[in-house]
Amino acid sequence: MLDLTQLPVTHPTGQYAVLVGADLLPNLAEHAHIRGPIALITDSNVGPLHASRCGEVVCVVTIPAGEQHKTLATVQTIYDELLAAGIDREATVVALGGGVVGDVAGFVAATYMRGIDFVQCPTSLLAMVDASVGGKTGVDLPQGKNLVGAFKQPTAVLADITTLQTLPSAEFAAGMAEVVKHGLINNSDLFERLEIGDWRLTNQSPIGNLKSLVATAIAVKRDVVQEDPFEQGRRATLNLGHTFGHAVEQVSGYRVRHGEGVAMGLVAAAHLSAQLGYCDAVLQSRIEAVLQAQHLPTHIPAEFEPKAIYQAMFSDKKKASGKLRFILLRDVGDVFVTGDVAETAVLATLTAVQSA
Ligand code: MG
Repeated sequence: MLDLTQLPVTHPTGQYAVLVGADLLPNLAEHAHIRGPIALITDSNVGPLHASRCGEVVCVVTIPAGEQHKTLATVQTIYDELLAAGIDREATVVALGGGVVGDVAGFVAATYMRGIDFVQCPTSLLAMVDASVGGKTGVDLPQGKNLVGAFKQPTAVLADITTLQTLPSAEFAAGMAEVVKHGLINNSDLFERLEIGDWRLTNQSPIGNLKSLVATAIAVKRDVVQEDPFEQGRRATLNLGHTFGHAVEQVSGYRVRHGEGVAMGLVAAAHLSAQLGYCDAVLQSRIEAVLQAQHLPTHIPAEFEPKAIYQAMFSDKKKASGKLRFILLRDVGDVFVTGDVAETAVLATLTAVQSA
């Protein structure tokens, strides 16, 4: 008997299950209840490692790895390959890879022949805990990230923990930033377990520890998204650390990884919350300690000017009506959204959390 955790996800148009376990890919069709042909979309990093483990598929489309290929041009090449392979509406698109593959393949599934079934097999920690719930797909334009896209709910998500063992350790750490964020948003038990270190988490951890971590982190996102499927309120809290983090990523010319930006952003969010009197200053130290244990950065590199980061925050599409929104903390597991933070307070925080 497989040791499998099933998380049911309800969304506005139906429901599906996220399956978390080891060695799920060899029985992909069975686990995901796919009856028709499978078109597997993967990238040049993940394909060579895992595509051949996925059982029988009609075609494998391999896109070049990297965010710079999350474009309409890549989508066009995938349409071409699907047509050449005779893929029709009876088929299922399966995304095998990290966040970029999931976003691109999901957008293809949402649009190809007006939409065909979609199954996600996230192979990075970040994609497992972040992208397997929510239904967001899309591509970047030269003008900015994720400017074209669609909501496309999968019919199943298989988080095969075995794939984490081939994930580069820096990518594993980047995913841990979102796990820490999920603990801070809605699960103090998850955060405290990370604090105690009882999971001793690396990508070489025992499968049982990883499975428990991944399932717990996914459940946090599921609960938040289910409560607010149309992103009108509570769901915004998933952006904890992201207003700062996205701006740092952007100012760095995307040399700072998303997870690294989020890690710095979580520290900044805690600093700002304490500065404004919402939480105890010790919360920032607790967050720093958890992030450091995962080898994540806790300070914004000094080369990035606070004013430049502040400016970059305004180009993030997630700002509401020209106003910056911040997610602030009252305590672990207790966060709220506010649009009411003075520029001077933000700049003070950006200065305070810079590395010396
Ligand atoms: Mg994120």
